[in-house]
Amino acid sequence: MQKQHIVMCNELIDKLRIEKKLSKKEYLFLIKNREECKEYLFKNSSEVRKEVYGNDIYIRGLIEFTNYCKNDCLYCGIRRSNKNAQRYRLTKEDILLCAKQGYELGFRTFVLQGGEDPFYSDEILINIIKEIKLNYPDCAITLSIGERSFDSYKRFKKAGADRYLLRHETADKYHYQKLHPKEMSYENRIKCLENLKKLGYQVGAGFMVGSPYQTEENLVKELVFLENLKPHMVGIGPFIPHKDTPFKDEKAGTVEITLFMLGLIRLILPNVLLPATTALGTIDPLGREKGIKAGANVLMPNLSPVNVRKKYMLYDNKICTGDEAAQCIECLKKRIDSTGCKIVTSRGDYKGEKSNE
Ligand code: SAH
Repeated sequence: MQKQHIVMCNELIDKLRIEKKLSKKEYLFLIKNREECKEYLFKNSSEVRKEVYGNDIYIRGLIEFTNYCKNDCLYCGIRRSNKNAQRYRLTKEDILLCAKQGYELGFRTFVLQGGEDPFYSDEILINIIKEIKLNYPDCAITLSIGERSFDSYKRFKKAGADRYLLRHETADKYHYQKLHPKEMSYENRIKCLENLKKLGYQVGAGFMVGSPYQTEENLVKELVFLENLKPHMVGIGPFIPHKDTPFKDEKAGTVEITLFMLGLIRLILPNVLLPATTALGTIDPLGREKGIKAGANVLMPNLSPVNVRKKYMLYDNKICTGDEAAQCIECLKKRIDSTGCKIVTSRGDYKGEKSNE
């Protein structure tokens, strides 16, 4: 590596920090030369995180309430065609118990995540949302239940849902088609994100790093996509193969590119809520700590009942499927202390403009 390249990279990082955008060519240059400039990037991205959120790391209690799914995404372990998946559904009472335990542990955000399971009609979900809000009015509810109609999203919002996570998975239509069966469409996914924004949700988009067929040019597209969408949250994590999917023999994404992307995203969207994901902790035992140091500021520990955790296997070897919630949070506290940050138990709302336009 020529010295000149390092200087160019560092200048681009300075420029990105100030202008919050670069040209496609400049992003590609950074991604290609990431090894040489990653330390400088992380210095900047962690400074920006600190400017906006201090040393605070927000926690979200993840309740994985169903692993039934009508979709057949080629990468996902709970896809419809996986006959080896042992399916489960939590009742309203189960979910409320998770929330109760979570609340006692200090959680003020609950994320209801699941496969796309038509068993949970709008009415059932509205009932659950309302009850959680009634019991814990100081808490935020995040939904992560895939693609639904504008009308359903509107009803969930009215019932009390505050936020919605819907990763777009890839910002390239053709790449999207390679990861999904033909009955699913990139256009609908994006339409859903737009609808959620329109309805006033705090919206989370995101993608997998190193998914099959992803190129460095695709990663550039992701950054440009995020510049334009300006979501409040961005969930990214490495792709990890699952043994019962068509992608079982594909290579996993890497820690290093995931961290580099986290750093770039923090500079593009300084206020963004950015989780260090479980997938990152799965491919590297210190992945989440490294994610925080690269600019992430959110962790999403598991609040699901221990007896179902191993069944929500999106990918092989997922971590934190054995511990109780209390153990999980203790472990995370210690890990985060080692980064110089600290876990806080506030709702952890987005700190930018509310509409984020
Ligand atoms: N049904 C919801 C929730 C999906 S699970 C929805 O459609 O939004 C949450 C995320 O897990 C997905 O958006 C996907 O990005 C990620 N995921 C699924 N399979 C994965 C795999 N094999 N490796 C890494 N991440 C995966």
